[in-house]
Amino acid sequence: MNSRSFPVVNKLTRNTLLGTRSHWDVLDAGVKITKQTFGLTADGVFVDLFTLANDKGMEVKITNYGGIIASIRVPDRVGRVADVVLGHDSLDGYIHRPRYFGAIIGRYANRIRQGKFALNGTAYSLTQNKRDTHLHGGTRGFDKVVWQAREVHLADGVGVEMKYLSENGEENYPGNLEAQVTYVLANTNELRIQYLATTDKDTIVNLTNHSYFNLAGEGTILGHELRLNADRFTPVDEGLIPTGELRSVADTPMNFTQAIPIGARINQNYEQLTLAGGYDHNFVLRNGNRASNLAARVYEPTSGRTLEILTTQPGMQFYSGNFLDGSIVGKRGRVYERHAGCCLETQHFPDSPNHPDFPSTILRPGERYEHLTVFRFSAQ
Ligand code: BGC
Repeated sequence: MNSRSFPVVNKLTRNTLLGTRSHWDVLDAGVKITKQTFGLTADGVFVDLFTLANDKGMEVKITNYGGIIASIRVPDRVGRVADVVLGHDSLDGYIHRPRYFGAIIGRYANRIRQGKFALNGTAYSLTQNKRDTHLHGGTRGFDKVVWQAREVHLADGVGVEMKYLSENGEENYPGNLEAQVTYVLANTNELRIQYLATTDKDTIVNLTNHSYFNLAGEGTILGHELRLNADRFTPVDEGLIPTGELRSVADTPMNFTQAIPIGARINQNYEQLTLAGGYDHNFVLRNGNRASNLAARVYEPTSGRTLEILTTQPGMQFYSGNFLDGSIVGKRGRVYERHAGCCLETQHFPDSPNHPDFPSTILRPGERYEHLTVFRFSAQ
């Protein structure tokens, strides 16, 4: 289809994704999108794979199964391109060896203690899919459903808009939740993710993307230098669920306010690291809630590849791939050993429904859940 005639997302969405512009019809010739069939689910549903490319050498593959980012290819400082996210070569891999690689997580990212919370005096009991905990939306979260997808062509990028109706009672959540996630690749090497949701009944929502990054495209992430714009984090108990405390990172191995290799202190005898077998914590972002907020910066010294993450969200789960154990063989036959990738999940804090002091994750009818996260790539 001629990209000019393709319906674009509504004006509000466009403005949010791109900032206000006056020349909507001027499409950037440097970005393009193609679509192919990725495979068939067990229910007989065909799933697509979209390839987004720009003329700066960046290429992103996205499937509407789980809204998964299947690959992100980025040049290094001398122009050599590598795939910087973990995942599988085929749809089958994502279906049969799920580890949330690249997926959209919902209705509630991360953990809810025993899957229980109360809302307006009603007690809800969500599916318990990780022992007695509710993790990443339950048994069949947003990472395991087929999203309705269509291409979008914007002034400075191309993308995929995906919708999913999570019905009232799914995984025991209240309310029909209409979720929409739009990925846009811009010619500035930014991959933007916009999350929208509305409900017909009071509910809770917390959406994120679960990409595992490795900016070298091989080895572990222990040499990646990380900076987090966070002065506090939410300590966890043995179940990796926040205790409710907001603790200063000062004088602890959780302090990433200055860039430091991820592996520099990961084995220190600090209770929070021991409990999680590395980093698996929510960080409280400074000045949360502005799209221009730089939340994290990751720099990989051998390739020079750099990832900056900006977000409107108040938190970021930094997970250093502690549970990867070599049992999963991913793309191009690569064995995913411990710390083969790290996740930087922009989000509201885990278990917020049970912590009235945490930023609220309640969504009510008539309100609009809206968040933006930007993955900005460069090489230095
Ligand atoms: C969690 C980890 C969990 C992983 C699953 C992360 O978001 O924080 O505890 O094991 O997702 O892949």
